[in-house]
Amino acid sequence: MSVPVRLSESETAVDAAVDAGGICSLYVHAPFCASRCFYCDFAVKVAPPNADEWLEALSWEFRALETEGEFTLASSLDTIYVGGGTPSLLGPAAMDGLARVVGPERLQGADLEWTAEANPESFTEEVAAGWRRAGVTRVSLGIQSFHEPSLRWMGRLHGADEARSAVRIAREAGLTNVSIDLIFGLPDHLGRDWEYDVGQALALDVDHVSLWGLTYEPTTPLGQAVEAGRETPPSDRRYEREYLFAVDRLAEAGYEAYEVSNFARASRSSRHNMIYWSGEPYLGVGNGAHSFKHPVRRWNFRDWDVYRAGVRGPTPPVDGEERLDPDQRRLERIWLALRTRRGLSVEGLPPAAERRTQRWIEDGLGNEEDGTLRLTPRGWLVMDRLTVELDGDFDGALTRSQSKSDLPAPLAGPLAGPLAAPIAAPLGKFRDI
Ligand code: SF4
Repeated sequence: MSVPVRLSESETAVDAAVDAGGICSLYVHAPFCASRCFYCDFAVKVAPPNADEWLEALSWEFRALETEGEFTLASSLDTIYVGGGTPSLLGPAAMDGLARVVGPERLQGADLEWTAEANPESFTEEVAAGWRRAGVTRVSLGIQSFHEPSLRWMGRLHGADEARSAVRIAREAGLTNVSIDLIFGLPDHLGRDWEYDVGQALALDVDHVSLWGLTYEPTTPLGQAVEAGRETPPSDRRYEREYLFAVDRLAEAGYEAYEVSNFARASRSSRHNMIYWSGEPYLGVGNGAHSFKHPVRRWNFRDWDVYRAGVRGPTPPVDGEERLDPDQRRLERIWLALRTRRGLSVEGLPPAAERRTQRWIEDGLGNEEDGTLRLTPRGWLVMDRLTVELDGDFDGALTRSQSKSDLPAPLAGPLAGPLAAPIAAPLGKFRDI
């Protein structure tokens, strides 16, 4: 079903139901990494992992959330997503410990989707078996590339063979719903053969593929290397070519592009991530995690040590929040609708917006079918700009500079994600060209 620009009565009813029954989707941030990758700007603590400390901090946060009563979890969850960081570093027992902290009774639903992220070098048979026993149903593997020099350049700690082994380990443990991440848009000097890498990914025959367009954030060592002239991002032309090539190959292989950077075999799209992109409520716990319940978005302290010190207080460790006004909400609804195959309902669009979307269709940036506007892959490459332009056709439109900054911050998780997701977990990033 496509997304109407304005909040419908049925969605207002969902808000009321959430207030009565609680939030059904939970994001949990695992902060530890063995080292920081060259390009990474996530909320990461480079330190030996300590699962007990992590679980204790989460317990304190749940206690404070209960006392506060604003972001209450439902008695039975639909989805839970453990992102990071590197959750697989926390060892085989960590997911079982997490189930005890969240409340085992909340994780009993027959349809529960429980995703955990893993890096190949720490995803051992023991970890996979422990996750399976705890109830994890889906594994997201940070593979990124099969080109050894590129993996070394990124600072990844695994090789191509370990990536392939990780998929096998997941399947042998009974974790058959496997997603892999791939990064495109690497610098030219690496000589990475993107077509080869996409072919290698397809050969794994996994259920789900996420494409990350590498972004060169100024706060990262990579961004600083670019600033100092030691690295050069690839041209927009190559970025575009690599993205469109992968979209075509994935489509040929039977993967549906259900979101700008996410591709799934039948019934294997990430239900959890669709919650973010549908504007439905979610709770995020852990350092840097974001939560959303209309009209409030808020986020926890990003630094693990600051979060850990603050989590024992009487209130949740929230660093900031914003209340979306109707204009911000509309902008966000347009953006979220355009990034997924759900698309945007054209019903009720102002005449100027109708004319604009017709031009997009003529230019090959979008399609319209049964009253729903969907962007094409070429449209997805300029999705931010199109969102801001379309929003400008409404009364009370935000100005271009305001509206750019009002798009949910690129995250990873909940999102960080191909352009950005309203969260703290790597959903993928995407350059708007
Ligand atoms: S990219 Fe992933 S594995 Fe690398 S430092 Fe960031 S969170 Fe850790």
